Amino acid sequence: DNEDLRLLILENISQEAVSYFRSQGFHVDHHTTAFSEAELLEKIPHYHAVGIRSKTRITEKIIKAATKACTVHPALLVIGCFCIGTNQVDLITAAKAGIPVFNSPFSNSRSVAELVVSEIIALSRQWCQRSHEMHAGLWNKQSKGCWEVRGKTLGIVGYGHIGSQLSVLAEAFGMRVIFYDVINIMPLGSARQVETLPALLAEADFVSLHVPELPETINMISKQELEQMKEGSYLINNARGRVVDIPALIDALTSKHLAGAALDVYPAEPASNGPSFDDQINSWATTLRNIPNVILTPHIGGSTEEAQRMIGEEVSQAVTRYLNYGSTHGAVNFPEIDLRAITAEQGNNIRVCHVHSNQPGVLRQVNDVLSPYNVEKQYSDSKGDIAYLLADIADVSPRDVNKIREALSHTRTNILTRLLV
Ligand code: NAD
Repeated sequence: DNEDLRLLILENISQEAVSYFRSQGFHVDHHTTAFSEAELLEKIPHYHAVGIRSKTRITEKIIKAATKACTVHPALLVIGCFCIGTNQVDLITAAKAGIPVFNSPFSNSRSVAELVVSEIIALSRQWCQRSHEMHAGLWNKQSKGCWEVRGKTLGIVGYGHIGSQLSVLAEAFGMRVIFYDVINIMPLGSARQVETLPALLAEADFVSLHVPELPETINMISKQELEQMKEGSYLINNARGRVVDIPALIDALTSKHLAGAALDVYPAEPASNGPSFDDQINSWATTLRNIPNVILTPHIGGSTEEAQRMIGEEVSQAVTRYLNYGSTHGAVNFPEIDLRAITAEQGNNIRVCHVHSNQPGVLRQVNDVLSPYNVEKQYSDSKGDIAYLLADIADVSPRDVNKIREALSHTRTNILTRLLV
C-alpha cells in the first residue's frame, strides 16, 4: 500500500512532482529549503524516499543513518535528484546500500544554452554594465569595446547535451563555432571539433564551458589556460564552479587580458537565498563583484519553469516506477533493469526485486529459492560491485510471499529484497 511509503521532498521541487507523488498515494512531506546535515540525520530515518536538488548533500554518514537496521523505522529505498548533477550524493555508498539514484540528465539543457546565448551578447555589448549604471542614475552611451557577435568565434568546451544545443543557437546568430571534447563527436551544422584545449583557447572570442566536474576538469581553466585565451576575449562558465580557478580569472580580468566573464556557478554556493554571496563563502567574492563587465548569476542556468516542470515529471516518474515496479531504468549508480508493470489481471503474481553483491554463485542461490514456483520472467544485470535481479512469479500464496522474502533476505550476498505484490 503506497500510503505506507513516506517521501521527503526538499529544496522546493516542482509542485507537479509533489502532485504526481500524491496522486500515486504516497505520503509526501514537502519543504522549500535544503536540510543541513544535522536536520537530515534526524529526519531521514523516517522516510523511504528522498527528493533533493543540488544543495542537499547525501553523504556516507546520511546513508548509514537512513538505512540503519531498526524495527520502527523504514529504510531509505531510493534517492531522486531533481537536477542534472549527482555529485552531491555518495553514489557508491548508496549503491552498496541498495539505493538507486535517479536524476534528469537533459531536461534543462535548452534553458542553459539559451542563458549562454544571452550572456554572449550581454558581454559583447557590455549592456549589463550599462544597465547597472542607469540604475545608479548614470547615462554612459558608448560604443568603444562593444561588438556584434556576428562573425565572432565561439569555443565550446564539452560538446554534450548543452554544448551541442548552444552550438546550433550560436550559429543562428552568425557565429563561427569550434568545440573541444575528450571524445570525437559529430559536429552539428558548420561547427568544427578542434584537437586540443589550447587550440580552442587560441582561436575563440568567447569560451563557454560545458564539461562535468571530474578530477580532470577541476581548475581546467587556470592561469596558463587564461593566458592562452585571446586578448579581449570572454569566458563563460555555466558548468561547475570548480572548473575555473577564480583568483586566476580575477587576475586575467583586472589586467584587462579578458574583456569580461559570465559566471553562473561557484566553487562554494550558499545553501539558501539571501545576502550571503560574500567572502565568507568564497574569499574573493567582493573582488569579483567589483570588476566591470562580469555577469554573476546565482546558478540559474537550468532555472526555468519549463525545465523545472520537465525535471519534476521525469524524476518523480522514475522514483515511482522504482517504488511501484522495481524498475531502475535511468538510475545513475545501479544496473538498469525494467520489466513491464504487473497488471491487476495478473492476480496473485508477485515481483521479486533482489539487490545483491556481484559475486559468483548468487543466481544458483536465488534459483534454489524460486525454482518451486512458476517464474514467468526473470532478468538480472550488474554494475560494478552491485547486481540486481527482477523476477515475476505467478500464483504465490501470501504465506509463500513471506517464505520467499525470508529466504532471499538471508542469502549470503543479499543487500535488499523487496517483494511487490
Ligand atoms: P553532458 O554529459 O551531456 O556533456 C558533457 C560533455 O563534456 C561530454 O561530451 C563529455 O565528453 C565532455 N567532457 C568530459 N570531460 C571533458 C574534458 N576533460 N574535456 C573536454 N570535454 C570533456 O553534460 P551536459 O548535460 O551538457 O551538462 C554539462 C555540465 O553543465 C554538467 O556537468 C552540469 O554540471 C552543468 N549544468 C549546469 C547547469 C546550471 O544551472 N548552470 C544546469 C545544467 C547543467
